[in-house]
Amino acid sequence: MIRFDYFRADNVADAIRAGTPNHAAFLAGGTNLIDLMKENVARPLELIDINRLPLRQVTELDGGGLRLGALVTNSETAYDKRIQARYPMLASAILAGASPQLRNAATNGGNINQRTRCYYFYDVDTPCNKRTPGQGCGAIGGFNRNHAVLGTSEHCIATHPSDMCVALAALEARVQVEGPEGERTIAFADYHRLPGDEPWRDTTLRPGEIVTAIDLPPEGFAANYTYLKLRDRRSYAFALVSVAVGLRLEDGRVAQARIAMGGVAHKPWRRAEAEEVLIGREPDDQVFAEVADALLAGAVGQPTNAFKIELGRRAVVRALRQAAAGTPQSQTDKRIR
Ligand code: SF4
Repeated sequence: MIRFDYFRADNVADAIRAGTPNHAAFLAGGTNLIDLMKENVARPLELIDINRLPLRQVTELDGGGLRLGALVTNSETAYDKRIQARYPMLASAILAGASPQLRNAATNGGNINQRTRCYYFYDVDTPCNKRTPGQGCGAIGGFNRNHAVLGTSEHCIATHPSDMCVALAALEARVQVEGPEGERTIAFADYHRLPGDEPWRDTTLRPGEIVTAIDLPPEGFAANYTYLKLRDRRSYAFALVSVAVGLRLEDGRVAQARIAMGGVAHKPWRRAEAEEVLIGREPDDQVFAEVADALLAGAVGQPTNAFKIELGRRAVVRALRQAAAGTPQSQTDKRIR
């Protein structure tokens, strides 16, 4: 049995003080951390329970936008009337993920900090550079159907598992954090990392820092959006490929475009040059195919996941078609039209 200490924090300052040593872990919904502890992948010597921190509100921001407290659950976020009206892409992405029971327990802060679902990462009898630096990567040359085709390194080809994060990337959310050195704001694009030479680092959080909130900017692309998720079964499965799209149309042309992909990289995948392809153009399949090519340029597949490159291209075209037509993908009737 692995022993650990348990501490329940009543305020953010106490949580940060208790959580500063590297061997401590913050516990919120526990839907990922407890699994990792059961599998012996995570072995914190101290659990800091943060469920009593006052971070469970959704509040209006000056100048428009909403602040999502880190402890607001995924379900509370997806069913918040303001989110549904102003950020339906985010609500849709959340409802595409996990199961109702998990979404009821999982928090927004936990969602953006969840770890990869690479099979080798969870199997301590196989090599994994993310779990044990320098050990090697079982997925390279192994079974890698769920793995990345963009932004990989020779050390890790894992994907980020979140649906919510793909929408947050497209919305250009901002992550509010607090730590031993004070508060700071991290642009969502800078929050998650590509694996590079340090695949064990998923985010740019510093030791002891805690996520307190996620800020949504005023523009929610509520008229023309979609979250399209392709997976091996219709529910309770991670994305093989997913696409979040937000468009602002003016006089039949694209005035603003955001596109983020999930299931293809170690972080939600965006490319500014792909979005620029759309600007000033009338939306049609030929333009959408150019966007898909730009987003997936340089993609490299492994023996069992190379199909994701063509699947990704088709998903981008389909998602752009849905968003431009104002007919977003339904997360209740999951048939893809
Ligand atoms: Fe580990 Fe990354 Fe390789 Fe998976 S892909 S085995 S997480 S190093």
